[in-house]
Amino acid sequence: MRLGLEHLAGALTAQSAQAGPATGVLPEQAAKVVADVDLDRPLGDTGAALAEMSRVWLDDAVWFHDPAYVAHLNCPVVVPALLAELFVSSVNSSLDTFDQSVGGTFVERHLIDWTAGRIGFGATADGIFTSGGTQSNLQGLHLARDAALAAGHAIADLQVLASADGHFSVQKAAKLLGLSPDAVVTVAVDADHRMDPAALSRALTGVRAAGRVPMAVVATAGTTDFGAIDPLPAVAALAEAHGAWLHVDAAYGGGLLTSARLRPRLAGIERADSVTVDYHKTWFQPVSASALLVRDSRHLRHVTWHADYLNPKDPEGTGHPNQVDKSLQTTRRFDALKLWLTLRVMGPDTIGGYVEDVVDLATAVGDRLAHHPELELAATPQLSTVVFRYRPAGLTEDTADLLAGRIRSTLYERGTAMVAATKVAGRCWLKLTLLNPMASVTDVLAVTDAVAALGRELTAEVAA
Ligand SMILES: *Cc1c(COP(=O)(O)O)cnc(C)c1O
Repeated sequence: MRLGLEHLAGALTAQSAQAGPATGVLPEQAAKVVADVDLDRPLGDTGAALAEMSRVWLDDAVWFHDPAYVAHLNCPVVVPALLAELFVSSVNSSLDTFDQSVGGTFVERHLIDWTAGRIGFGATADGIFTSGGTQSNLQGLHLARDAALAAGHAIADLQVLASADGHFSVQKAAKLLGLSPDAVVTVAVDADHRMDPAALSRALTGVRAAGRVPMAVVATAGTTDFGAIDPLPAVAALAEAHGAWLHVDAAYGGGLLTSARLRPRLAGIERADSVTVDYHKTWFQPVSASALLVRDSRHLRHVTWHADYLNPKDPEGTGHPNQVDKSLQTTRRFDALKLWLTLRVMGPDTIGGYVEDVVDLATAVGDRLAHHPELELAATPQLSTVVFRYRPAGLTEDTADLLAGRIRSTLYERGTAMVAATKVAGRCWLKLTLLNPMASVTDVLAVTDAVAALGRELTAEVAA
């Protein structure tokens, strides 16, 4: 144990001496060092195995706490959660049944009730921790599907309405749930990338007119690219009017529940039937930590199965509370403990303060880029992402497209910084996802300056 902690401390020290979040190793190089390890020949020595582990992974790992890591929705983790991880794995409680978790079951339930309270759900609410937003969205739509089937609708008729900027896990879930290939109807967004209620209204009417059934409307509270929060009150009213289940995907925006200042942006979320919250994004928890919350606990019965050896239907009058009755998983990590210890040590206001910090950071960076001579901003930041590209006056769209990809890969290869890429209206843009409350405006502007410098450096090469 001590050897491992020393090794980790050494890696962190080495990282802080490094110039950026990554070393820029390429896939072929990374694959080679791993492939060379013969798993049938153990080293038989922890020190040697740790040294090898560094070679195959740690030395070239990507560090999310580095201020120049601004790529995906990954957060640096808070220390109480890290401490909790030690206990989660050491004790290895499994949250499927009471007799494998005891107090853990109630810790999880207390956190679910607390989150549901922050959402504004009433006393009938419930939910379950999941492995991530993808699983939470799948379960939310699973409950919606089974509610529609229980109401007598045919599966082939069911459709799901989601914005064009919604997460791809909605499409995946529709496929896994056996819905028809044309089940997901894309609803247009407005200039701010928020679902357009007029377009949703037309789409719902269209579904009905075609003799189909609007099984669910998926609203996004914080889209992955623009951080857009769909107009939840208007969307909820339309879903209610058409008898459709409302699922709110707040995988990204869920952290706003901890900030008194930002919470009003989620107004209307309490009208959802189900909500996805990813604690491993805007709550600064290690992967994995997510939850699905439902307004009416009775819907969770759709995932209940009874096994004689685990959670029998007639539990000899024990009345044991078994979380497996609400989950798609059976054996399940006690991820809730991380959030528990975070709240008990730091409190929700500290998390809320961090969320405000990263939102303010994105706003400040956006303000600077809005007046930049060489960098173009795609939209005013709404949450903590900044979508932009290198495009000084006179540069064609095609060249800007080529440059975006080259700038991104060069930044990685040189180890300077890591940014993400996305497409807007078919064109290539760069994206900063800011989730490090310790990063300053100066830190992030150093990354955008590096982008501009590379743009100048690579223009001739790309044009040639
Ligand atoms: C990240 C994200 C998801 C998927 O969550 P995972 O935890 O990565 O499975 C779903 N929806 C939105 C809006 C997201 O940002």
